[in-house]
Amino acid sequence: MVLQDLGRRINAAVSDLTRSQNLDEKAFDGMIKEICAALLEADVNVKLVGTLRKSIKATVNFKDLPPAVNKKRLIQKAVFDELVKLVDPHAEPFKPKKGKANVIMFVGLQGSGKTTTCTKLARHYQTRGFKSCLVCADTFRAGAFDQLKQNATKAKIPYFGSLTSTDPAQVASEGVAKFKKERFEIIIVDTSGRHRQEKDLFDEMTQIQRAITPDQTIMVLDATIGQQAEAQSKAFKDTADYGAIIITKTDGHASGGGAISAVAATHTPIVFIGTGEHMLDLERFSPQPFVSKLLGMGDMQGLVEHVQALKLDQKDTMKHLAEGVFTIRDLRDQLQNIMKMGPLSKMAGMIPGLGQMMGGMDDEDGSMKMKRMIYVCDSMNNKELDSDGKIFVEQPARMTRVARGSGTSVREVEELLSQQKVMAGMAKKMGGMSKNMQKAQGQM
Ligand code: GDP
Repeated sequence: MVLQDLGRRINAAVSDLTRSQNLDEKAFDGMIKEICAALLEADVNVKLVGTLRKSIKATVNFKDLPPAVNKKRLIQKAVFDELVKLVDPHAEPFKPKKGKANVIMFVGLQGSGKTTTCTKLARHYQTRGFKSCLVCADTFRAGAFDQLKQNATKAKIPYFGSLTSTDPAQVASEGVAKFKKERFEIIIVDTSGRHRQEKDLFDEMTQIQRAITPDQTIMVLDATIGQQAEAQSKAFKDTADYGAIIITKTDGHASGGGAISAVAATHTPIVFIGTGEHMLDLERFSPQPFVSKLLGMGDMQGLVEHVQALKLDQKDTMKHLAEGVFTIRDLRDQLQNIMKMGPLSKMAGMIPGLGQMMGGMDDEDGSMKMKRMIYVCDSMNNKELDSDGKIFVEQPARMTRVARGSGTSVREVEELLSQQKVMAGMAKKMGGMSKNMQKAQGQM
């Protein structure tokens, strides 16, 4: 089961329960059972699912709930918190420092996406002002250096490697020494992911690690690996003692649960996830936004980061968000920006409620839907655009006029208004914690 489906199923289980008339213990148990079944199908480790079930039951403690307690919110919160716990190793990931050489070594099996991810990460840091470069220490596979060279050239990142040497530790230390001398700040070392014997691969990893003493070792894990993830990540942990994980191919038809289990098994944070083959398809990972996105509650922080990286004009919306306001005009501007941002399926997950609304649509249908939402906005007058939408409740006839004027239906106008309402609710909550926003605003 793909992650998106997992999110949808968990969400459905919680919504079914919270919407049901008689919210009794039997219905509550049914919800937990459905969530656990979905997690197991997504390859999350059996033991972890068991712990999650017990924790939700213990937190909610259905029998002792006084009737006045808002059971629905309590249940929603418990499910959310437990899912966050599942992907949160409670360990701070490494943060590179400016003005010094940060050596990062990559390990992982061949085909996991190591070389691709090395370049993505170098590019990520490069765009954030770090002088970044790549070293290829894979002397085992013919063509490994060529692949890295090609990727690096495309991304305009300096690289080092050897076509003749057979000693990966030596190539690695030569490369690192050269780039340290040239005052590079991020030096990423790609290593081999395959050998005739597993033992040889692990020996080689240790030798390289000793030769370059990296500040950070990152294991790359393919999301499609399923239940083997735990064993594989433990084996690598024992040898290379990596401090962070990057999960690749989360965009494909991978269940992803195996990779989540690897985090719990090794208590190691996931720092990024790969979301496609393109250079830009790398997202920073943190537990709360991940679960929020998984459950269709959006990832506002991710959205803000993404928008900042794209340097789109967001002044008014940022100001509004900081004030806890979100108007229909803000929604229209966001929709227009989203259309510019790349694959819709990816962006929709970041906006609360939108992922669900687009559920099951391909990018083409989704784009059409968004365009129609923009048409709806374009038929409104300024007063309506700058409102919170209540104006339409007071004058429902305007809804019909807007629908007619935009060539859409009243239902579509209603959908747009409810989307705006969700966003406004989020903005209100975020108004108080607007420090980041103001900072973002300042940067713009
Ligand atoms: P390596 O052998 O570990 O160095 O793996 P590569 O970097 O050569 O990647 C193997 C394949 O996976 C290539 O075809 C990559 O384009 C692809 N790949 C890597 N990361 C991702 C990702 O996040 N999503 C998708 N869809 N493909 C990826």
